[in-house]
Amino acid sequence: MVNDFKVARKRYLEKRNMTDVPLRAALIDMDGVLYDSMPWHARAWHRMMTDAGVDCTVEEFFLYEGMTGPATINLLFRRAFGRDAGEDEIRKLYTKKGEIFKSFGKKPPIPGADVMLREFSRLGLRRILVTGSAQMSLLDSLARDYPGAFLSGDRVTALDVTHGKPDPEPYLKGLDIACCRPEEAIVVENAPLGVRAGVASGCFTIAVTTGPIPYEAFEKENPDMIFPSMTAFAEILTNLWKD
Ligand code: MG
Repeated sequence: MVNDFKVARKRYLEKRNMTDVPLRAALIDMDGVLYDSMPWHARAWHRMMTDAGVDCTVEEFFLYEGMTGPATINLLFRRAFGRDAGEDEIRKLYTKKGEIFKSFGKKPPIPGADVMLREFSRLGLRRILVTGSAQMSLLDSLARDYPGAFLSGDRVTALDVTHGKPDPEPYLKGLDIACCRPEEAIVVENAPLGVRAGVASGCFTIAVTTGPIPYEAFEKENPDMIFPSMTAFAEILTNLWKD
């Protein structure tokens, strides 16, 4: 894996027979990228699904990150009961999961995420939120925790797509909003399925490990770069801006 941003970018463009395409937009995931919310999502999923009679572990929900709520429920229902959940069942279960998640209280920002957002702005990149979440409690806190980071309308949530990550649709919708070609956008992800979606959209894709998922799980998805923390990635952006 290349650990120099400019080298990785050059390599990405060369693969596409391109040179010097400037970046114009940053497509930014929310859970695990802007908020350290994944431990709470995993616990809420585990409690809700256990109550529904599904045998599962807290840890496995880190691997499903990026998938929509209905997709996650169906994955577990098929495994436990050999069938998909009904629409009513999905609505009730997902609402319950949201309530448990909200009851855990305020989720802390990821250290370095504020610097990342600021440096993208300094580099002249339009910032678009691209999340598989439909948790209004967290989406509503963005304006408070990251004031001015996203223009209204510059976001894709679970409510805006037919197919969630790992399908590229959320990132393709983000490109539409930014009026960008894939080569002009950078994706920032913390989950293997999210990285898969970013790579499939054709964007320059950055994986930042902010949770318990091992490095190898990211490597398998072939991102253009992998960073060990958001602080490390933000520092690279600061250096780009100063160059
Ligand atoms: Mg995420």
